[in-house]
Amino acid sequence: MTQEERLTGERIAALQERAWARAWQHAQARSPFYREHLRGVGGAAQTPIPLKEIARVPTIDKSVLSGNSDAFLCVPPERVVDIVSTSGSTGKPLVYMLTEADLRRLALNEHYSFRCAGLTGSDTVLLAVTLDRCFIAGMAYFMGLRRLGCAIVRAGPATPMLSLEMLHRVRITVVVGVPSSLLLLGEKLAEAGLDPARPGVRKLICIGEPIRNPDFSLNRAGELLERQWQARVYSTYGNTELAASLCECDAGRGGHLHPELLYVEVLDEAGRPVPDGQVGELTATTFGVEAMPLIRYRTGDFAAIYREPCSCGRLTLRLGPIVGRASQKLKLKGTTVFPAALRAVLDSFPEISAYVIMARLTASGADAVEVRFACHGDGNGARRALRERFQGAVKAVPEITLAAPAEIEALQMPEGARKRRHFVDLRQPASPPA
Ligand SMILES: [Zn+2]
Repeated sequence: MTQEERLTGERIAALQERAWARAWQHAQARSPFYREHLRGVGGAAQTPIPLKEIARVPTIDKSVLSGNSDAFLCVPPERVVDIVSTSGSTGKPLVYMLTEADLRRLALNEHYSFRCAGLTGSDTVLLAVTLDRCFIAGMAYFMGLRRLGCAIVRAGPATPMLSLEMLHRVRITVVVGVPSSLLLLGEKLAEAGLDPARPGVRKLICIGEPIRNPDFSLNRAGELLERQWQARVYSTYGNTELAASLCECDAGRGGHLHPELLYVEVLDEAGRPVPDGQVGELTATTFGVEAMPLIRYRTGDFAAIYREPCSCGRLTLRLGPIVGRASQKLKLKGTTVFPAALRAVLDSFPEISAYVIMARLTASGADAVEVRFACHGDGNGARRALRERFQGAVKAVPEITLAAPAEIEALQMPEGARKRRHFVDLRQPASPPA
């Protein structure tokens, strides 16, 4: 292990305290938003509050940041060298700006992350992710891999034939991509007569979709990928506004934090910290960011954190699998549930051939959640078993309905859909066609 991976608890705390002081001073002095926001918190501009009192700073979320990027900008606009945007699957996409130093920080972060997954300069890495379309991730991976000294094959996500060709011709050891597209790529390889396990890829770095259940066991996608490619899967979590990622080590028990780049909290709905190991909203403070530093930013992603030492020897905090986004949160008879938790239960029944989870609003404004499933064999038996498993695993039972496979197919893939849906959210009125 390298020096920064052997950090002791004391060293981590000292690193974070120093980085926090610099982040506070920078934001207070340069950001029009934070000058106001931190005014009522106490602690003069030059004397930051201690990190252990960070909860005195009110949290902010994407709605504050989007449409208001300029108020967060801490540098003259001519210092900005790269401008990215979030995909904006929910709400307004936001604009995030980076300076040259921010790009170097991004590269350092990914260098640490890839090294955490055991990559070295001798690896040849196929990037099956996009480097354009204003995404931060592809560029970050590219820069981090370059810093690590890897050879990079920038195939992109939408070119399976090119990936196939390159897997044939170059000895690729690692593939970075979204689990569902990596599964598709594996299928394309098989169709072309090439066993995905044959090119000798050792590792799949998985982004954007979970490959593990909350208890760190592999979910169905993770299992399928390992079987298909005969390679080890690693999950990495990244967030545009944090300009950071946390990647798993060989232990596969959460993504490791790089403590000089980020401070992480997990909060409940009232903004109180939840105990380690329990799911809450990931809230983070960026360290070392020049253009748009953020303090106590609620990411909208829900996960648990773990602080006990990892079996890999690192003592840094770990972030567990993302169990859902704020927009997907369901209130099922008073219990907060994410569709992913329901899916994990459904996926554990081999006799269930297809399913869809639907959320509606009741007349009183509560969430009504229904699971429709098709199965081989005894439907009523499966329904009883499902009830029990939901009660045990998620502490709440949705309405469970047996349906014909064709009906489920129509719900999963309505006309014109490009992606199969396992969760249909009917709680928002449909937006008028553009
Ligand atoms: Zn570890």
